Amino acid sequence: MVELEKEQKTEQKVEQKETPTIYKNYGAPVLFIIIVPIILFYVLKKSTTVSQNIYPNWISLIVLVLFLLWGYGSLRLFPQNFDGPKNVDGSVPKYQGNGFLFWIASVIVVVCVCLKWKKVPEMVTTNFIPIIMTFNIFGLLFVGYLYFVGRKDYWGKEEDDKKEYSALFRFYRGLEFHPRIGGVDIKQLTNCRFGMIFWQVIIIIFAFFSYYSGGFNVAMWVTVVLQTIYIAKFFWWETGYFNTLDITLDRAGYYICWGCLVFLPAFYTFTCYYLANNPSIISGLMGCVILVLGCWFIWMNYKVDKEKEDFKANPDCKIWGKKAEFIAPFHHSVVKGAYPQNAGIKEEEGKKSSKLLVSGWWGKSRHMNYTYEIGLSGCWSAVGAPVGIAPFAYLGYIIALLVHRIYRDEDKCRVKYGKYWDEYCKKVPARLIPGIY
Ligand code: NDP
Repeated sequence: MVELEKEQKTEQKVEQKETPTIYKNYGAPVLFIIIVPIILFYVLKKSTTVSQNIYPNWISLIVLVLFLLWGYGSLRLFPQNFDGPKNVDGSVPKYQGNGFLFWIASVIVVVCVCLKWKKVPEMVTTNFIPIIMTFNIFGLLFVGYLYFVGRKDYWGKEEDDKKEYSALFRFYRGLEFHPRIGGVDIKQLTNCRFGMIFWQVIIIIFAFFSYYSGGFNVAMWVTVVLQTIYIAKFFWWETGYFNTLDITLDRAGYYICWGCLVFLPAFYTFTCYYLANNPSIISGLMGCVILVLGCWFIWMNYKVDKEKEDFKANPDCKIWGKKAEFIAPFHHSVVKGAYPQNAGIKEEEGKKSSKLLVSGWWGKSRHMNYTYEIGLSGCWSAVGAPVGIAPFAYLGYIIALLVHRIYRDEDKCRVKYGKYWDEYCKKVPARLIPGIY
């Protein structure tokens, strides 16, 4: 009982923190809805040396329609047989589990198209800004539609009204966790089957453009190979992605949907875009070193994620050759309705048993997977060092994103695990780099 009271106090604290400020209600939405796109287009325009096209045109419209149909078809034409985790709103979303096949099919198609029609890479690269402009218009209309149809009745509306969240904030954050349109889950469509696959396809197109216009370029192909392995890994593990913050914590609104429809296609691809416009020359040896180091980071990032996955599946598993150690099995109360609605906690009545792993990488720092992810991004940016700091833009962004994500995740874990999370933090004080941060 005392335990429960303590937990409820923690929850009240979190609720207090959630009271909207002017920044939350208006500042953050304006920043991300107006300022970020302006900066994005400015940077894309400043970086191009191959085209002055900026306004939407037929090519950009065709690209949008093709990608939407390709992604939608991959979800709709096959039975959606994968049940996602039960969400805070009580829904159990249905997903499509064919991510890796979808990735293979997409890569084969784009490579064949680039080999057969040599003009396609040039047409797409020189119209990249119009393509992103078109995605932007579509993204805004799409998120506007989601807001319009959901605004009168959605899970947690009373709480939002009580907290006096502005309409702008609700548009920005989103209303529903798992809306569906045309029989498919919106977040799987926008995040995986549009944004992530566009990333893959466009960097291959940039690489062909660079090859057809200037011959084989080590820097371009090294970064494309590293990013391709990374994206392939994402699709291999796509069903695991449904357990992450993007899916369980973020509602389908401007932040995540516009982010995946526009920001991801425009910015995650930026290193390759920049190198397609401003070729970087590095030696074959340097290319090999960066490639090997980048592959090592990918492997380590995978190993950290895998340790947690194995441990969650079987807490008696071995890690680094020894029986996994964890903060003693404990029961924390999971009380229906008691958690702040945005904490991403699955609501269940009664008690729930959980364990926090302290062996292996999870005993070195609390987010060692992010550390390796940052190392990898450093590698795929480093190939562009001879042409300046612009190719490192994504690296700067990913550091900011992951550090912010650490705090979001820790807020969630503190609410969920209470004093056991504090115990874990005491045992493993580092967030990213052991002994430093
Ligand atoms: P994590 O894989 O670090 O998952 C965090 C969750 O794991 C916590 O919320 C908690 O969830 C659980 N957890 C934390 N510590 C422990 C522990 N010691 N023992 C057991 N469970 C623990 O984060 P993400 O889901 O964000 O990242 C997954 C992958 O995606 C990573 O490889 C990351 O690098 C990558 N990524 C890439 C991004 C990009 O834009 N490029 C963005 C974000 C992630 P629970 O409630 O289940 O216990």
